[in-house]
Amino acid sequence: MKLIDMHVHTNASDGVLSPEKVIRRAMRNGLSGIAITDHDTVTGALSVDLLNIPNNFTVIKGIEFSTIQNNKEIHILGYYLDIEDPKLKNLLTNIQKFRSDRIYKILEKLKRFNIVLEYQEVQGEEPPESIGRPHVAKALIKRGFARDISEAFDRYLAKGRLAYVEHYKLETKEAIDLIKDLGGFSVLAHPGLLSDRDIFSVLEKGIEGIEVYHPKHSRFATTKLYELAKYRKLIITGGSDFHDFSSSKGNDIGSHTISIDRICIDEFLQSPLSCSI
Ligand code: AMP
Ligand code: FE
Ligand code: FE
Ligand code: ZN
Repeated sequence: MKLIDMHVHTNASDGVLSPEKVIRRAMRNGLSGIAITDHDTVTGALSVDLLNIPNNFTVIKGIEFSTIQNNKEIHILGYYLDIEDPKLKNLLTNIQKFRSDRIYKILEKLKRFNIVLEYQEVQGEEPPESIGRPHVAKALIKRGFARDISEAFDRYLAKGRLAYVEHYKLETKEAIDLIKDLGGFSVLAHPGLLSDRDIFSVLEKGIEGIEVYHPKHSRFATTKLYELAKYRKLIITGGSDFHDFSSSKGNDIGSHTISIDRICIDEFLQSPLSCSI
């Protein structure tokens, strides 16, 4: 069976590997394809065109938008959207400006607790296109203010914690409509982490698929989401949400996948929903 990991981050956002290394690792792990889905950036996905990728390996260009709904953060995956569209480029430029301003605000808040970090330190040696809280978490760990990423979030960075700063306000429906408008399909990321109420609210906004297979989903959640997807005739996807090797064990690239035939890559462009399983 040909397997594809539909949720992979690169160092264009908060992943540690370059797009090239991500693809090499996916091949080594026996996959037939991956989707590059960085947070609020398509720079990693765009750079794939310059690589020499064997014909039998599929790279889907995607994105993972962070949106706000009822004051909660929702992640919307987009696949096959036109990532060269100027409208998208403009939106992402605004979001990235907001993201970098947000990091400065987080650093200001941390100063109140006598934690002085420089922006450059957070960025690291290879500045990401889309900077976020995980970059601050890594700097906090390096300086000994947290033992690991979860402690950094629990103490400082998660919503309601000491140095939390609000996200860019993109409505969930805006992200779903934009992905559709740009010829792609939208998928609700890791819905197993959301309440049923939030899931249904996203479904009402016209999302076309749900990520059934994800490392943070219990077996119970996976089964429930699978049944929901079948019942609502939604596209079923799955992926590792790979970022790095340290955070949570068991989500190396390929830990969670979907059969390529199942998402009907070739047919999708003609009629996405008719090939949803
Ligand atoms: P940001 O886009 O800056 O808001 O950061 C969100 C990202 O941080 C998520 O996509 C995850 O990769 C990571 N993240 C969020 N919450 C946690 C947590 N509690 N522990 C570890 N990583 C987290
Ligand atoms: Fe992330
Ligand atoms: Fe996510
Ligand atoms: Zn992700």
